[in-house]
Amino acid sequence: MIGFEHYSPFPAISISTLTAFARCPRKFFYSFGVGIGKEEHIALKFGEAIHAALPHAFYADLVASFAAFDHVWEDRDSFADEKRNKMSARLILTDYMQSHASNRSIYKLLKPPSTTLRLSKSISEYEIPFVLDIGLSIPLVGRIDAHSSHRDTGELWLNEFKTSSEMSTRFFDGFQLNPQVVGYTLGARAHGIPVKGCIVEGLKVSSAKKDAQMTQSTPVFVTDQMVEDFLIWAKYTAFFMLACQDAKEFPKDISACTPYSQFGMPGYQCEYLPMCLTSDWTSMKGMYTPKDYPTFRLLNGPKLKPALTEVTTNGLPIHPAQPPLNPSRTIRIGAAAGAGSVVASTAANDPQSTQQPMQSPP
Ligand code: SF4
Repeated sequence: MIGFEHYSPFPAISISTLTAFARCPRKFFYSFGVGIGKEEHIALKFGEAIHAALPHAFYADLVASFAAFDHVWEDRDSFADEKRNKMSARLILTDYMQSHASNRSIYKLLKPPSTTLRLSKSISEYEIPFVLDIGLSIPLVGRIDAHSSHRDTGELWLNEFKTSSEMSTRFFDGFQLNPQVVGYTLGARAHGIPVKGCIVEGLKVSSAKKDAQMTQSTPVFVTDQMVEDFLIWAKYTAFFMLACQDAKEFPKDISACTPYSQFGMPGYQCEYLPMCLTSDWTSMKGMYTPKDYPTFRLLNGPKLKPALTEVTTNGLPIHPAQPPLNPSRTIRIGAAAGAGSVVASTAANDPQSTQQPMQSPP
């Protein structure tokens, strides 16, 4: 493949890298392997700044919240984005504060449990990093926005905060069976946090003042079946990703260049289309810039002590005195060989489990 020398192999995979690869191997190559894209993605930066500010707003400290936003956002108001700027951020954060203060929130944010994992670029102190051994040569890694306890039941939940121009049933439906929601739930459970699922909180980004004051949330329960489906998808996708890497060939999925082929409706075209229309993509590399969003780096490497915890997919610990798990019921995702790895499994002797036995994916 022309230009493969620009590719950097991965020390880990994340859900966003898997999702990119699943859409188009070549898109993954450009975006994560070579690390180039069109200009800085202003929407991602806005979301990152809001993430940093939200915990302060939750605890009704708007001064600290605005300061946290400004620290990440810096001088990007110069982009003159009418939806994403300091003023719209202040409206969003104020609305979030008002809808969560004085026990109005259905959850209470919690500080994450101590861990040997550290984030190289932490956005907020409520983030939870995780590392999972899913039986590949490299681990699955991720960072969860936050977790919380339910105000009325005390149940633990994950929290995912999403800024979006659309706040609708269609928007929230997108998280019902979603790799990020399910994968993060698995990551939390495998690290000893028995969450029920994920509360997805939508924060509307708008140029209209009345619209900016919209914060909505929906809980997504994550079942054992969803976790099993996620694991199979993640393992197969990563398998093909690594095979492409070994073959030094990332094919173009030309059905993914615009939404029309796959979804039957027009929409935004892939940002890499100009490169894919040429026979030598490197001739157009100069039109793109290095991405501001590097992939995960496992800084501690092999010095990390493996977290040898076995958990069921619904977060219940498996007591050592219990009989061995039925191999046909267990997804034993590799030995705990990787640094900081966690063995995730589903348990045949889990009284809450109602699924049928399944074989481990190859
Ligand atoms: S333009 Fe099409 S083939 Fe090229 S990276 Fe994008 S989706 Fe893949």
